[in-house]
Amino acid sequence: MKYLSTRGGDERLSFEETVLTGLAPNGGLYIPEHIPSLPENWKSDWKDYSFIDLSVAVLSLYISPDEISTKELRTLAEKSYKTFRHPNVTPLKKLDDKTFVLELFHGPTFAFKDVALQLLGNLFEFFLLRRNAKKAEGEEPERLTVVGATSGDTGSAAIYGLRNKANISIFILHPKGRVSPIQAAQMTTVTDANVHNVAVKGTFDDCQDILKSLFADREFNSTHRLAAVNSINWARIVAQTVYYFLSYFHLSKQLPAGTNVDEIEIQYVVPTGNFGDILAGYYAKRMGLPMGKLVVATNENDILARFWKNGKYEKVDSTLAGDASSGPTVPVDGSSDGKQGTVSHGVKETLSPAMDVLVSSNFERLLWYLAFETASGDNRAEKERLAGKALDGWMSKMKTNGRVELPISVLESARRDFLAERISDDQILETIKSFFEGKVPYIADPHTAVGLAAARIIAQQNSSSTRQIVLSTAHPAKFSEAVSRALEGSPHFNFDRDVLPDEFRGLLEKEKRVIDVERPDVELVKAVIEKVVGHQSGKIKESGSV
Ligand SMILES: *Cc1c(COP(=O)(O)O)cnc(C)c1O
Repeated sequence: MKYLSTRGGDERLSFEETVLTGLAPNGGLYIPEHIPSLPENWKSDWKDYSFIDLSVAVLSLYISPDEISTKELRTLAEKSYKTFRHPNVTPLKKLDDKTFVLELFHGPTFAFKDVALQLLGNLFEFFLLRRNAKKAEGEEPERLTVVGATSGDTGSAAIYGLRNKANISIFILHPKGRVSPIQAAQMTTVTDANVHNVAVKGTFDDCQDILKSLFADREFNSTHRLAAVNSINWARIVAQTVYYFLSYFHLSKQLPAGTNVDEIEIQYVVPTGNFGDILAGYYAKRMGLPMGKLVVATNENDILARFWKNGKYEKVDSTLAGDASSGPTVPVDGSSDGKQGTVSHGVKETLSPAMDVLVSSNFERLLWYLAFETASGDNRAEKERLAGKALDGWMSKMKTNGRVELPISVLESARRDFLAERISDDQILETIKSFFEGKVPYIADPHTAVGLAAARIIAQQNSSSTRQIVLSTAHPAKFSEAVSRALEGSPHFNFDRDVLPDEFRGLLEKEKRVIDVERPDVELVKAVIEKVVGHQSGKIKESGSV
C-alpha cells in the first residue's frame, strides 16, 4: 500500500515514509492509494477478536507485510495497548436500549488521543531502531526530536506516547501558569530522561508561534530532525478505525437475544474538533463496516456543522448580519492541539477545549474523497488528478480568504454519509446534568456531552431500528471545572468520590520536571533543545531557568 497527497503530485510514499513525514511537502495530507475492503469472512472470523487482534487485522490492510510483518504488528499493538486500564481497551457501555457509549479514555492520560499516540510512539521507535540497525559501526544513529505545543488538553497524551522511546526526544511547550494544575501535573510529573516540558512565559499562541518558527528554520529542523505528532499523522487515523470495528462486535453481543446486529442501523455520534476521530469511522464505513450515518457533533466552534447546513466552508459565518465576508487570515495547517494558526481570534473558548478549532485539519481528507467521487474524469488516475487539483484550489482559497464555497455535488455527497449538529456550552452543562440524573447515572466529560446532546437531538428523526454509539473522548476528571459546574446543584454528587480516579490523587504533590523559558523567544527555546540533545553537551538541570 502506498500513500499520496491530497493536494496532488506524483509522490507515492510507503507507510513508514508517510508516518515519519506527517505533512506532505505540498501542504496536503497523506491518504492511502485505495481504501482496502474487508476479507470475505471478517464477520465470523473477527467476532471474538480482542482490541489487539483487531488492530493487527485492520492495520495490516493498510501496511504492506514487507514493511511491517504481522508478527511485528502484533508486538507493536501489544506494547501500545497494555498501557490501557480496561481489558477491552475501549469498552462499550449501554446507557439505555437505544444509546451506547464507546469509552475511549482508559489510556494512560485518560483521553482518547492515547489510542493513537500510544501506537504512534511505538511506530516511531520501531522505524528508528530498524534504520539504525542497518548502520555501520561508528555511524551516527538517526534520532528524532518531537516538538509540540499544548494549551493543556493534549500535551500529556503525546508525552505518554513517546516517553522512554529509544532515539527520540520530546519537547512540549506550554504557556506557564495558563494550564490547569492537573493538566500541568499530568505532563510535568513524567520524569523519563527523554521527556522535556518547556514552560514558556507567554500565551498558547506564543508557543504556537515558536513551534512554527522552529519548523520553518530549515537548518535547525534538519540538524535535529524535528517531527510532529499532530492529528494529521496518518498513523493516528488508522489506529482509530480499530475501535469502530470492536464496538460493532460488542454491540452485537449486548443486543437483546434474538436481535440481529445487521437488522439494526448503527449511528456513530462523534465529538469533533480536527475531524480525526470521525474520519476513522468514515474509513471503517468505506471498508465495509455496516453503519448508518456518522454524526459530526461540534461545539460552538461550528465550522463543520455550518458546512453540512449550507455547503460553505468558512471560518466566519457569512450568513450572520454584520459579518466580515472574509475572516481573519489564518494558515490552515494543524497543530498538536488542533488550534489553527497564529491568530487566535475567531476561535471561541468553550467548555470542551479540545474541540476548540477554527478549521478542522483532517476535513481535507474527506474533501478529497468527495472531490474524487464527483470528479468528471473517466479513469481512476484522471479522477485522482482532478481531486488533487480541486483540493489545492480550495485549500489555497481557505488560506487567503478564510472561506470557500464548495460545489453542491460535494455537499450532497457529504450528506450521504454524515449528519451534523452544533452544541452550545449551555447544552453541554444541561446534558451532563441530565445524564447524571438519568436511570443509569452516567458522568460525562464536556466533550462527550457534546456527543450525547447531539445524539439526543438527532434521535428524534431516527427510525426505531437505529442504535446510537456515542464516542466518549475524555474522562470527566480531566475537565473537573465543567463537570463540577454542571453538577454543583446535585445533592448526590461528590467529585472526589464519583469522579476522581486514584491515578489523579496526589498528582499535584509528585516530583515535577520542567524547564522555564523566561520570554516567548524562539532563540531561547532553540537553546534549550540544543543543550538537551546537542552532541557535545552534558546534561542541564531541568528545573533551572533559561
Ligand atoms: C482531540 C479531542 C477531541 C476531538 O477529536 P478530533 O479527532 O480532533 O475531531 C474530542 N474530545 C477530546 C477530549 C479530545 O482530546
